[in-house]
Amino acid sequence: MLRPGNFNKAMACHDCGQVLVLPKMPDKTIARCFRCNAKLFCKNPDSIDKTLALAFTALILFFIANIYPFLAMRIQGFVQETNLITGIATLYNQGIPGVALVVLMTTLVIPLFQIAGLIYICLPMKLGYLPWKTAQVFRLICNMQPWGMIEIYMLGILISMVKLAKMATIIPGFASIAFMILICILAAIFSGLNPEDIWKRIPVKKDHDIINNRKDSIKETRDSIPIGCHSCSLLCRIPIQDGHYNCPRCQASLHIRKTNSIHRTWALLIAAGILYFPANIFPVTLTGALGHEQADTILSGVIYFLFSGSWHIALIIFFASIIVPVMKLIILAYLLISVQKKVTWKPEDRTRLYRITEAFGRWSMVDIYVVTILVSLVQLGPLANITAGPGAVYFAGVVVITMFAARSFDPRLIWDAMEESNE
Ligand SMILES: [Zn+2]
Ligand SMILES: [Zn+2]
Repeated sequence: MLRPGNFNKAMACHDCGQVLVLPKMPDKTIARCFRCNAKLFCKNPDSIDKTLALAFTALILFFIANIYPFLAMRIQGFVQETNLITGIATLYNQGIPGVALVVLMTTLVIPLFQIAGLIYICLPMKLGYLPWKTAQVFRLICNMQPWGMIEIYMLGILISMVKLAKMATIIPGFASIAFMILICILAAIFSGLNPEDIWKRIPVKKDHDIINNRKDSIKETRDSIPIGCHSCSLLCRIPIQDGHYNCPRCQASLHIRKTNSIHRTWALLIAAGILYFPANIFPVTLTGALGHEQADTILSGVIYFLFSGSWHIALIIFFASIIVPVMKLIILAYLLISVQKKVTWKPEDRTRLYRITEAFGRWSMVDIYVVTILVSLVQLGPLANITAGPGAVYFAGVVVITMFAARSFDPRLIWDAMEESNE
């Protein structure tokens, strides 16, 4: 891998901590860790130009998607329209501000911050200067990536359309087309953007002992250790003794391992496990129609879709809302126990399991979005009304807390047992 004249940069794998030296890479190639197969680096030429063009397009689409209604429902002369804001306002008015806040942050605030933030960084960079607090803004954009959930919201819109099609005429609005294009553009932004293109333009403070891409400096010494910054991937050398160190480029805290990772992950996991029971026992929606009231739990929603012929929707909800949260709790608990018992069995498979858990966990939010859309659309006076039930609050808690639990777990701990057994 390393040949004279071929040497390019040194970095540490964020999933297993392995320090690697990357050769010079041709354009449009991806470098993966040889030990755990994590994606380390992708080389995309002109990534800032493309990101800027796409971010401007995304900003226009974002406003179209939020100003116009994305769904209208017609039933016996009543017409009810909804957009994102009305759904959030309805949840707030029904007395569940916590769930309204989660929906507001994941579908409006965070995606808008990411789009506007990329324009804020890339436009001045294109003109040849660095905007104020570039590193901090870009760090925030990268850290918030799992929390922008427009594509999951779109799946919620589709499920709501199937659910309501039996009782009323559903008309997709202009905004739903804008939403679909916006999802594709956001996916193109984040798959095409090479973060290193932005990081390499941000200067590194000189008063730190940074490993300067020298082959001999990536070794561990008696009193210092090479550590990759979790935010900007800069390889830094920090003293082994306890202390607080910040990345000299992006100011993120540098840790040999995430602080109290095992205890924090256990605490969050137990909290999510406790909330999982009321989330499934209490109703997520209460439907009042012509004097009757019907309470629906997550499971009864699945059964409804199953027996009304929409088995594919039943499968999606069953998988996203029942299987994924349980699997996430089981997998994280297994990883924690395996780390505590210093198990050395198949570390690459356990790291992959962690990556899958982190990637799929956010899709459980789809049920919360379905509730948001239903409560804003089905407000038809004496005909039918849907309100959010207490189950929705507990379920939103489960999804958010398990996402925090996955982030607080440090996958490098899986590899520590291997290194200890090799010593
Ligand atoms: Zn690795
Ligand atoms: Zn950094």
